[in-house]
Amino acid sequence: MRRAQGWLCVTNTDGSLDEAATFTCSHCQKIVPCRAAQDPYALGGFCRQCDRLICSRCVGRDCVPFMKAIEAAEQAEYRRRQLERL
Ligand SMILES: [Zn+2]
Ligand SMILES: [Zn+2]
Repeated sequence: MRRAQGWLCVTNTDGSLDEAATFTCSHCQKIVPCRAAQDPYALGGFCRQCDRLICSRCVGRDCVPFMKAIEAAEQAEYRRRQLERL
């Protein structure tokens, strides 16, 4: 019997979900608690583009995986600094 705490939901290769106490939203990295017997879809959603669970806040939004969002922010910052130098 697993006493999951802070575990991540892992999508198995066969598409089933491991029982877990939490999952991390792939888009905003929010930790979302979920009960093992609970349908993760009820708590949030599943992004077919990055193949990960996402939180309810990110459902219906574009697929912007966290690392990509960071990269985009860094690039924006870089560009801003370049402009400041002019
Ligand atoms: Zn999210
Ligand atoms: Zn996604």
